[in-house]
Amino acid sequence: MKGICILGATGSIGVSTLDVVARHPDLYRVVALTANTNTDALFEQCLEHHPEYAVVVDEKRVQGFREKIKASIVADIKILSGVKALEQVAALPNVDSVMAAIVGAAGLMPTLAAAKSGKTVLLANKEALVMSGDIFMQTVAESGAQLLPIDSEHNAIFQCMPAAYKTGMRSQQVRRILLTASGGPFRTTPLAELPNVTPAQAVAHPNWDMGKKISVDSATMMNKGLEMIEACLLFSMKPEQIQIVIHPQSVIHSMVDYVDGTVLAQMGNPDMRIPIAHALAAPVRFESGAGPLDIFKVARMDFEAPDFQRFPCLRLAYEAINAGGIMPTVLNAANEIAVEAFLDGQLRFTDIARVIERCMDAIAVRPANTLEFILDADQQARSVSKQLITELDG
Ligand code: NAD
Ligand code: MG
Repeated sequence: MKGICILGATGSIGVSTLDVVARHPDLYRVVALTANTNTDALFEQCLEHHPEYAVVVDEKRVQGFREKIKASIVADIKILSGVKALEQVAALPNVDSVMAAIVGAAGLMPTLAAAKSGKTVLLANKEALVMSGDIFMQTVAESGAQLLPIDSEHNAIFQCMPAAYKTGMRSQQVRRILLTASGGPFRTTPLAELPNVTPAQAVAHPNWDMGKKISVDSATMMNKGLEMIEACLLFSMKPEQIQIVIHPQSVIHSMVDYVDGTVLAQMGNPDMRIPIAHALAAPVRFESGAGPLDIFKVARMDFEAPDFQRFPCLRLAYEAINAGGIMPTVLNAANEIAVEAFLDGQLRFTDIARVIERCMDAIAVRPANTLEFILDADQQARSVSKQLITELDG
């Protein structure tokens, strides 16, 4: 039996992970579940999966949760609170695998803690990797942790890599990666309408059901920009070796182009239980709950080059990785702040990219070779972006 800790259990990826885990009760024991504020969902999960630990990050909500658990049939669950508790449960000795499914920079420290303690890290939280880059990959290499990608594209790429491939390695047999993207809800929206699209329109993704932040990122295509950086780090590739391909049907989840001209693609329904089950079961396969792909219903697949004018966030992501140092951290932090402001109705959709671009212009590139430098740059970019947003208002 493998012990599993799910960071961000109440989110879209967390829920899908528990769905897969519950199909294999003989293989997994849920050791720890964490939530930020959604104690109702966490309580239901505790009743169903009976973890050893439950973490409620929000200290204002933990007391009520504690009382509910005490009065329930799972009263023996240990309850922790605060951000440090996330690191603690990620490093527990009886945890073998950690699902890193917190959204945004909040996931960095606990995901790093899992990597440092040599766990199998199932990485959904792409922001943590983008912001800490080489430091994260070094931590994994030094501790002997196993890093398995959950992002559907990176999981697809990983599945198409040569036998015995490990993340972080550079395979000389691979010429290019073809990173697919649906293009999101605004792929064909007239450009003149983009400034006025609403948060509700932006989070309505045509193919995937996801958390709000990543849904907005998909609408701006910053998600693909972050994923391009994620792919450079996970597969040790250069930005110019990654070709973004718009594939609106989301059936191919990415491809690997080999030096002999072979292109391997991984296909399947757009259901995150597939990459989650793949990473959990590796190197074998088991039931994920996802239905079989109906290839006749798919009928056709289209491929287009990305439009950098429509999606300036893509250009900004390339600029950030090419500038190096703290710039990917700045890109990520500015994006988190801008997306939050957009969801709160304080910023127009098209101003998300403007805020990020101005923030990147305002902060000079510096090395990112310590965690302290990275956390500093993250904080600086957050306050610069907040300031820029108030200036845009006026
Ligand atoms: P979500 O918003 O549905 O869930 C986020 C989870 O993180 C929740 O459990 C929440 O309690 C927790 N959380 C939020 N803020 C926190 C904080 N400050 N401290 C501690 N916990 C916090 O998000 P999601 O869609 O499940 O995405 C999670 C991660 O997985 C993101 O990094 C996203 O980019 C990545 N991802 C998601 C999908 C998908 O299909 N949803 C696909 C690929 C990658
Ligand atoms: Mg993805």
